[in-house]
Amino acid sequence: MNDPSALGKALEERARSTQNDETKALYERMMSQMDASSDKVAAAHEKSADRTERMFSQGMQAMSGQQQGAVDVERSAADRMERMSDRAMDQMGNVAATRARSGQGESVATQAGAGKVQICSKCKQKVDSAENFCPNCGNKMY
Ligand SMILES: [Zn+2]
Repeated sequence: MNDPSALGKALEERARSTQNDETKALYERMMSQMDASSDKVAAAHEKSADRTERMFSQGMQAMSGQQQGAVDVERSAADRMERMSDRAMDQMGNVAATRARSGQGESVATQAGAGKVQICSKCKQKVDSAENFCPNCGNKMY
């Protein structure tokens, strides 16, 4: 009796032996109800399956639309980014050029300011522009 299949068979036989007509009728009614209800359930399932399928396909369409939109957005964003980076590069170039120009200007200004050397008109000596008179000949430098 330790064999599970033998035990199952014994239980089945006992269930069959205890079944009288009443329980059999009850069982059959229950089965028919179950069938009916299972048909209903199946129909409901089918409906819901259809609905689910429609929803799914709609969802997929919506999603693909959204994805298309997202792709478009991404593409336009990428374009915008590219334009922005181009502009940024231009601006950076401008800034660099401006900086280079202003640097040149600064160096020119530095040369034009203190430290600039001018030539004395009288003795042709190099005289610091900060000097008012030529230290060589005393010529007025301004
Ligand atoms: Zn001089």
